This record gives sequence, C-alpha cells and structure tokens, in this order.
Amino acid sequence: MIDFADDAQDLIAGYRRFRARRYREARDLFHNLRDGQQPATMIIACADSRADPAMIFDAAPGELFTVRNVAALVPPYDESGGLHGVSAALEFAVTRLQVKQIVVMGHGGCGGIAASLAAAADRPIGRFIAPWVELAADARDAVLGDPSIPRSDWQEAVEHGAVGQSLKNLTSFPFVRSAYERGDLSMDGAWFSIGKGELHWRDPDTGAFSVVAAEDTQIDQDNKI
Ligand SMILES: [Zn+2]
Repeated sequence: MIDFADDAQDLIAGYRRFRARRYREARDLFHNLRDGQQPATMIIACADSRADPAMIFDAAPGELFTVRNVAALVPPYDESGGLHGVSAALEFAVTRLQVKQIVVMGHGGCGGIAASLAAAADRPIGRFIAPWVELAADARDAVLGDPSIPRSDWQEAVEHGAVGQSLKNLTSFPFVRSAYERGDLSMDGAWFSIGKGELHWRDPDTGAFSVVAAEDTQIDQDNKI
C-alpha cells in the first residue's frame, strides 16, 4: 500500500469519489473511448483553476480537446525553432482529429492579462510569464490607447481583446485557414465571469461579448413576476 504524502490526500480522496460516482456512471463510455477519441470541439482556455471548460460546458470525457495555458493565448504561426506546445496541439486537433470548432475562452480576473498590463507599466512579471503574455500586447495596447475606456475597465477590455487576438492568430496557421475556408471549421470566442458563473459569447463581427442566457436566469426572471 502506498503511503500517500499529506499533500496528495485531497487528490486521492477526489480520485476515490470519482471512482465511486462519475466513473461508475460512465464506465461504458470510458471503455468505448479506450482506443481513440473523436472530439468535435477544441477549447483553448486559461490554466486558471476557476475556469474549467469541462465543468462550464458540462462535457463528458471525449467531448472536448482542451489546451490550457496562461491567459488562453494562441501564438502566431511560427516555423522557427522552439517548443511550440499550443501549435502542436492545434495541429493535432485540426489535421488529425478534424475538430469542427475551436473556442478560445478567456475569463474574468485573469492573472495573465493582469501581467500583460503590468508589463505595459514597466513592471514585467516572471522569467517566462512576461514574454508569454506579450502575445496579448496588440490587444492590450489597443485598450490603453483608447481614451474612451476608463482605467477600471482595462482588465476586462484586454481579456476580451486577447480572445480576439488569439482568434486572429489561429488563422495564421495554414491548416486552420484551409479547414475554415473549406467550411469544415468554425472559430468562436467566449469569456467566463467567475464571480457570476456567466458565460459571455463573442460576436465575430463586432468583437463585443454578450451574456449567454442560462436556465437559472429564466427562473430568476419568472420569480420576479
Ligand atoms: Zn487566466
């Protein structure tokens, strides 16, 4: 019997709950997924512990091919040397799994976006974080250069803008562009409000985000009448 370290106790307890409940309910599904996956959707999300795509979209195993990184950023296509983790996942999802849609999901209170704003104020954070979040620099600089956006809205405006920047970078990958032009792939942006548990969807024409109506919203409205 392994003597689990104290730090691992919560994980092991969680694993045992998983085995007792969710795995027991989905045992056949896991068995059928043993030899392969055919997810229709790729999600690019932040690594933040509070914005878990599988939970937000109530997805079963095998449904979402997910990449999570700091601030849900997609780098532009780049053939130079380097270890391109997001690009490798994107290539696999689009050319091998042939996913039908890609959704880039940012979220409220994103530490990566806060780091991008800090870098603009000459306070770069981290050896690796600061250069990574520079991927959102264009979106950030557009917000900082817009006098109509008050400082109190900068964070959320850059969170929204960074989703648009990542969607734009997606189209710099030739295999993404050709799948999109064939009509085999759609791309969308989303943003999750952690405090309210609300999903906001991006209008591809305007770049504006609107809240997605949810069942409980309807119930609340009904109760008011
Ligand atoms: Zn984040």
